[in-house]
Amino acid sequence: MPATELATTNIVFSDVIKETSSANTLNIMKWLARRGLIANQHMCTKCTDPCRSMNLQHRNGRRVIDGYCWSCSKCKKTINIRAGSFFEGSHLRLQDLIQILYWWSLGEPIVTVCKETGVSKKSVIDWYNFIRDICAMTMLENPIQLGGPERTVEIDESKFMHRKYHRGRFRPGQWVLGMVERETNLTMMVPVETRDAATLLPIISQYVRPGTRSVADGWRAYNTLPNHAVVNHRYNFVDPNYPTIHTNRVEGSWSLCKNKFRSMRGTSDANFNSHLQEFLWRRRIKSNYFKNIMYWIRFFYDV
Ligand SMILES: [Zn+2]
Repeated sequence: MPATELATTNIVFSDVIKETSSANTLNIMKWLARRGLIANQHMCTKCTDPCRSMNLQHRNGRRVIDGYCWSCSKCKKTINIRAGSFFEGSHLRLQDLIQILYWWSLGEPIVTVCKETGVSKKSVIDWYNFIRDICAMTMLENPIQLGGPERTVEIDESKFMHRKYHRGRFRPGQWVLGMVERETNLTMMVPVETRDAATLLPIISQYVRPGTRSVADGWRAYNTLPNHAVVNHRYNFVDPNYPTIHTNRVEGSWSLCKNKFRSMRGTSDANFNSHLQEFLWRRRIKSNYFKNIMYWIRFFYDV
């Protein structure tokens, strides 16, 4: 299946269940190989003159989790069927890994995945982290710039993981710089250590095109930006005399993002950025997360 088809073919839950509940590992391997998530063939790396295609061989044993491996009929070299794939090194069954991907794409909490698959909480947490790494890599691979002539970018900072999300436990919180292109809702959020101009302005110039009109909430760090307007909250949220000087879009983005973080009851500091990247990834992709996460796994794990 070509990568472009992978991203456009519709997959519903009944398909996933049908394919992954099969006791026949071969069917599950074919399902993954058709989507380019594991290799469809392997050439022997030892027998190079002439090149030799390896055979899929039934194999039992503690180290062969899937019951199959690639094997060279001449030199007897064997290769794990997951070699080079996103799933290499996992002790989980392939059908469980597919289901974890699917539940993640639906935004299901980890407890649901444990209950539905019987996989341990620790493994599901690990795999949710690996999937979020794919989101972060996708965002790095596709850097965006916001704004341009005739465009407005709303800029704001907000503090995440405030102690109200963790009753009784002190968390210092994490500042995030948010930038939203008003006309398209294209969003960029970047965790920052401090909120001074020396920190914020270089990030803004990285993500916001020159010539953009910017609007922010009266914070002096932005005052040096050209073509910049400041919201005056003292009188109105949207001043009737200057109806375009507001930051409603970026504030809307904060509340969406914070709702997500709140539903997770906060997250460890180490994972903060990866959760933020997942939020941005979903916002960029908009829908069909299962197909799209498979598309990007295939992109980064070229088997
Ligand atoms: Zn060989």
